[in-house]
Amino acid sequence: MNLEHWLGEVISENRKWSDTFGRYRNHNSISINENDFVESFRELVDRLKDNYPFFHPCYAGQMLKPPHPAAIVGYLAGMLINPNNHAKDGGPATAAMEAEVVQLLAHMFGFDQHLGHLTTSGTIANLEALFVARELHPNRGIAYSEDAHYTHKRVCHLLGLGGHPVVVDAQGRMDLNALETLLRTGKIGTVVLTAGTTGLGAIDPIHDALTLCSRYDARVHVDAAYGGFFTLLAGRDGVERLPEADWQTISRCDSVVVDPHKHGLQPYGCGCVLFRDPSVGRFYLHDSPYTYFTSDELHLGQISIECSRAGAAAAALWLTFQVLPPTQEGLGNVLAAGRRAALRWAALIERSDHLTLYQQPDLDILTYFPTRRPSSLSKIDRESERVFRDGMKSVNGQVYLSTLSVTAQNFSDRHRGVVMDADGSRILRSVLMKPESEIFVEELHSRVVRLAAQG
Ligand SMILES: *Cc1c(COP(=O)(O)O)cnc(C)c1O
Repeated sequence: MNLEHWLGEVISENRKWSDTFGRYRNHNSISINENDFVESFRELVDRLKDNYPFFHPCYAGQMLKPPHPAAIVGYLAGMLINPNNHAKDGGPATAAMEAEVVQLLAHMFGFDQHLGHLTTSGTIANLEALFVARELHPNRGIAYSEDAHYTHKRVCHLLGLGGHPVVVDAQGRMDLNALETLLRTGKIGTVVLTAGTTGLGAIDPIHDALTLCSRYDARVHVDAAYGGFFTLLAGRDGVERLPEADWQTISRCDSVVVDPHKHGLQPYGCGCVLFRDPSVGRFYLHDSPYTYFTSDELHLGQISIECSRAGAAAAALWLTFQVLPPTQEGLGNVLAAGRRAALRWAALIERSDHLTLYQQPDLDILTYFPTRRPSSLSKIDRESERVFRDGMKSVNGQVYLSTLSVTAQNFSDRHRGVVMDADGSRILRSVLMKPESEIFVEELHSRVVRLAAQG
């Protein structure tokens, strides 16, 4: 896709549309000296070089990558008009697009009816899900796994809800025996299950947990901010296939959150919350002193906590979904490539003398550490940190990784024969969320092996 061409088209189409409203004069107060601008623009471009190459497959660190060109074109087209999706009258076109993309996301999770909308982030989307949880069970708390995103603890604090962490098993999934013990106390109104934890990409046992929760009259919210789009790999053919049961169960859970700005190829500012029961919209109702002249159905501002939101985000996601829809053959192929890359790298590490796999990847996140014999937790911590730092400095063979802190307990659940001389350790972590990682994975592996062998 020729991005320059389409960005030019966006600007000229916008001008044509603007011209239909007749001529007017711009005010002097906003006119600027083009020479000052050139200088500042140069400075901006220069300062932006202080970044990591998120676009390049040698960047195999955090969950970061640039948006798809279609999303950039869609975002700019929306942004030039700058509609506000807090209400239909803030921008009828992008409000309608938001409803359409939310419908596609609901369909992806198998919801046959839904109430939902885009949000600025996964955090806000989870806040809304737990706000509804509180309205439905005002005197009961929230359970989430120890490996759940830190946002849940924070949101519970914000909403004045009791937050109850539940221990995880040796694969980083919520331990259902511990959950049941907690449910028996009657203190829990809603259980948060994570479909793809941010650290390891582990999937909580959603299928079995839902059965358990219904026995104790507890609601279930699924945090699939990072992992949600992997539902497109459930039951598909090929090595990237994921077991269906947990993903299919999401359709019977009470709410789900997914971040199109993580695995949906979008720029930041795009999360989504979906509720299975549309009547929860009643908890959002509020009187606004501003009148809207065309909306008689519930508008977006009446079913969301945020007020102003970028209509451009809806335009970007809408245009992306036209060409890469959230289906197995569309976005599914993008996620499949990242998952195959993670599986391939895991196999290479298993055959390596210099690296050890922390655990098998469930999605596209790989965790590993430098092999040392004899080994201790403090040595693994030191060496992981060294490989992480040296990788970025290495000329011609640079590689950008991330580190993950794990407890001594987490570590010994997976690996014996390592001296536990510390409370925890950093290990190496790579999110392979770019499909290009599949092509680059051998090179990534050899660069990291070279660094690990230097210790
Ligand atoms: C990223 C993430 C969040 C937070 O979402 P933001 O969009 O960063 O606010 C919540 N839960 C999980 C599982 C995540 O991976």
